[in-house]
Amino acid sequence: MEKVAILGSTGSIGVSTLDVLARHPSQYEIFALTANRSIDVLFDQVMAHAPRYAVLRDESSASQLRQRLKEVGSDTEVLEGEQGLCEVASQAETVMAAIVGAAGLMPTLAAVKSGGKVLLANKESLVMAGRLFMQAVEDHGATLLPIDSEHNAIFQCMPGIDRRGLGAQGVRRILLTGSGGPFRQRPLDSLAAVTPDEACAHPNWSMGRKISVDSATMMNKGLELIEACWLFHCPPQKIEVVVHPQSVIHSMVEYVDGSVLAQMGQPDMRTPIAHALAWPGRMESGVATLDLIMQARLDFEAPDEQRFPCLRLAREAAEAGGVASAVLNAANEVAVEAFLAESLPFTAIPRVLESVMECFENVEPTSLDDVKAADRLARERAAALIPEYKRG
Ligand code: NAD
Ligand code: MG
Repeated sequence: MEKVAILGSTGSIGVSTLDVLARHPSQYEIFALTANRSIDVLFDQVMAHAPRYAVLRDESSASQLRQRLKEVGSDTEVLEGEQGLCEVASQAETVMAAIVGAAGLMPTLAAVKSGGKVLLANKESLVMAGRLFMQAVEDHGATLLPIDSEHNAIFQCMPGIDRRGLGAQGVRRILLTGSGGPFRQRPLDSLAAVTPDEACAHPNWSMGRKISVDSATMMNKGLELIEACWLFHCPPQKIEVVVHPQSVIHSMVEYVDGSVLAQMGQPDMRTPIAHALAWPGRMESGVATLDLIMQARLDFEAPDEQRFPCLRLAREAAEAGGVASAVLNAANEVAVEAFLAESLPFTAIPRVLESVMECFENVEPTSLDDVKAADRLARERAAALIPEYKRG
């Protein structure tokens, strides 16, 4: 049985992963489940799956869970903090890295350094520390499989990943598709007043709140552009973003002979999750058949950069290299959190990011400490700007 740890098991990706794994009980052992501080959900998951370990980031939550599990006679051991996350990540054979945000970096890297199979949903870790992360994958012989539906689609449309870049495989460019989110057609002058719930109501995908807001600003596509550059060893100029509102094509790869390969399917994360778990094989995911007759049409359009300035900012960060994307990511996490807490208008998110990016001196990070320092400083600067942009 393959020992699987799910980092962020109480989230959207975590729950979908458990759903897929539960369809194949003889193949996978659920080794560890982890959460930030959702004790109740994690308790129920532990009761249902009896993992060897449960980890809570928050220490007081961990001791509460420990107490509750003791009362019901569970054998699951409760660990805590980043150290606990890194420990289970390095002991499992397969790790689903599905923590949201920068908090996922160290546990995901711990999984990489153990040389196992790493299923990467936490795009932020590649955005923050792409070069160091990919170097660690190579140094430790880890198998990195993309879970982000677009990157999983690109991976499926290519013969493999070649460190020499796209040209070595005859690929001309990557077409990264995105739905355009809930505000693709909303009048521009009404965007300043949108609420967190409106921003999180994605037309096609059901996801955690942070990535949902990122989809509404299209920063998600920007982060994915950076993620794709690292995963597929290509410069940002080789990646074109295409808005495809139906989310049926999950991305495409164009070859030098003019062939364009697309991966299609229902917008359901269980497909990429099952693909990565079974790779290089295939297995049932529970995802319904795609009915193309019912679907009837697929539309494509260019992204509107006036509506979605975050996309431009992400492309600039990808082109700049160094710590620029770590800075962008950190500022974005702070701005999105402020928007979700109703302390920042939706349209101020890119303005905060732009201000933080403008006054940043870019350097090439030589260690994770450099990345963390840039992350910390960007968070401070973004937080200091929030009151200025609040409702104005
Ligand atoms: P989510 O908010 O639903 O879940 C996040 C999980 O991480 C939860 O289990 C939460 O307890 C845990 N967590 C949050 N903060 C933490 C912290 N500080 N320390 C430890 N654990 C913490 O998010 P999600 O939608 O499942 O997304 C997870 C990751 O997958 C993100 O990086 C996202 O970009 C990526 N992703 C998600 C989807 C999707 O469809 N949901 C698609 C592609 C990529
Ligand atoms: Mg995606």
